[in-house]
Amino acid sequence: TVVTRFAPSPTGFLHIGGARTALFNWLYARHMGGRFLMRIEDTDRARSTPEAVDAIFDGLKWLGLDWDAEPVFQFSRAARHAEVALGLLKEGKAYYCYCSPEELTAMREEQKASGQPMRYDGRWRDRDPSEAPEGVKPVVRLKAPQEGQTVLNDLVQGEVTVNNAQLDDMVLLRADGTPTYMLSVVVDDHDMGITHVIRGDDHLTNTFRQIQLFKACGWDLPTFSHIPLIHGPDGAKLSKRHGALGAEAYRDMGFLPEAMRNYLLRLGWGRGDEEIISTEQAIEWFDIADVGRAPSRFDMVKLTSLNGHYLRHADDAMLRDLIVPRLETALGIPLTDAQKALLLSAMDSLKQRAKTLVDLAESALFYVRPRPLALDEKAAKQMDDDGKAVVSALRDRLSQHTAWTRDQLEEVARVFSEEKELKLGKVAQPLRAALSGSTVSPPIFEVMELLGKDESLARLGDVLV
Ligand code: GLU
Repeated sequence: TVVTRFAPSPTGFLHIGGARTALFNWLYARHMGGRFLMRIEDTDRARSTPEAVDAIFDGLKWLGLDWDAEPVFQFSRAARHAEVALGLLKEGKAYYCYCSPEELTAMREEQKASGQPMRYDGRWRDRDPSEAPEGVKPVVRLKAPQEGQTVLNDLVQGEVTVNNAQLDDMVLLRADGTPTYMLSVVVDDHDMGITHVIRGDDHLTNTFRQIQLFKACGWDLPTFSHIPLIHGPDGAKLSKRHGALGAEAYRDMGFLPEAMRNYLLRLGWGRGDEEIISTEQAIEWFDIADVGRAPSRFDMVKLTSLNGHYLRHADDAMLRDLIVPRLETALGIPLTDAQKALLLSAMDSLKQRAKTLVDLAESALFYVRPRPLALDEKAAKQMDDDGKAVVSALRDRLSQHTAWTRDQLEEVARVFSEEKELKLGKVAQPLRAALSGSTVSPPIFEVMELLGKDESLARLGDVLV
């Protein structure tokens, strides 16, 4: 069975590129009926933080990407990594290198001066450790093949080959006995039974060394897929300026996880012209073979419009629950059950216009604002003498009226406007201003119906004092 993994380094939040890598690994595992594992690559002790670990897990949970089994923490496996290196040493597939830092620097400088690529020259490969200088702690290096080629059959990049002469003998254990990143990754991928490594193509050059190491250990190679990185809309590498933010930032900006998943999926993977692809559909269709080779471009406008689509199709009660905390924060007080019920009734109409949960909360706020409502600038302009006269006369007429449905309320306003020889808009706009505090709102007779008779008349009265 297929086993994939997501192996982030916990040095920051779960950014867009990482989230997409996680999604592809998750989708492929789910598509194949396999397993999706988590590995936290926390070997860089100075830069790894528990906050970043939490942020990564929270981000994945928010995105709905669940993993199988307990996450593996790479640092905790250091002894196992060292054991593998020492095993290679015993078999003669690795060796102690006693070069001092000064020697290495001199080697590099010489190579640099003669225009050669900087590479360890293998001077301790076949040397007898009894010649070791006093006081130098050795590193352990892989005795990598010096001839021939290392071939990568990448599911996205195709066949990529490197001449072994170009790769030097990599360090497996540092002088202090700690494993290098390259060793840890290979041992963990093997021990976790990873069959498919799917990651950003910034790791492509590492892969040749990892293949050499897999082979030295006598282990089966996983299948590699290196996906092109995400670029900004201007084609430059994705940076903060482009929206390379953490998952929690997108949540705070009011994106739905299902929209985010759909958007991330389309960043580098496609099936014809389909833009809207549900997660169920994605699981059914996803194949690494369909991942493109060109870098994809992150486009906030596209993400936002996709989010609008998901909002329009989302469940009203779910949306209501998602905006309640935002509204309570804006108001500084908890909402009542009646207000929550009102929001639910209003949701179908509100969600047609919103692109994010932030918009949605903003557009819903007037329903739950305490009286008297502050009118925005444009709404205040509606409250000139003519506007007030309309509100006052209609308020009197409506207070006589008991049937409080949008159709009947509209009928009252229509008859009124005909009598006064006013366009319906001339009647509706002052009403809207008084009832919502703004010149844009859901259809105003719907608003009146939902606010109810008492609240509507009270708000109309508030603008007249
Ligand atoms: N820890 C690496 C990163 O965050 C990923 C390593 C891998 O996927 O092999 O870029």
